[in-house]
Amino acid sequence: MKCAVHKAEAIAVCIYCGRALCAECVQPGAAQRMVCSENCAAALTRADQAMAAILRKILQSARASAFYSYLCGGLSAGGAAGAWFYLPVPFLVWFCAGCSLVFIASGIWFGRIARNQDSAR
Ligand SMILES: [Zn+2]
Ligand SMILES: [Zn+2]
Repeated sequence: MKCAVHKAEAIAVCIYCGRALCAECVQPGAAQRMVCSENCAAALTRADQAMAAILRKILQSARASAFYSYLCGGLSAGGAAGAWFYLPVPFLVWFCAGCSLVFIASGIWFGRIARNQDSAR
């Protein structure tokens, strides 16, 4: 592969636009990545920031989902306990207990997503 500008042997590719780069073309980009120009370096930084913002949103929503799942799990467990004492209908007790288990399981699942994203940063 040859450099598009200098006809020299390419040593890298711009990770943003994919252009072949020789030693002269390589610009020191953010985080030591190979980019062909200031424009590509800036565009890459913007893309990184957008990605980081999306990841932050996912993290926040995973945390919120975990919180609400635990909350619903707690309420369902309370419903099961209440039904056990005040409305001795086996179906109602088992239904509420089942719901609370499902909610708590999804709370654990969302909590794990939030933790994974925390440690990835
Ligand atoms: Zn480029
Ligand atoms: Zn070149």
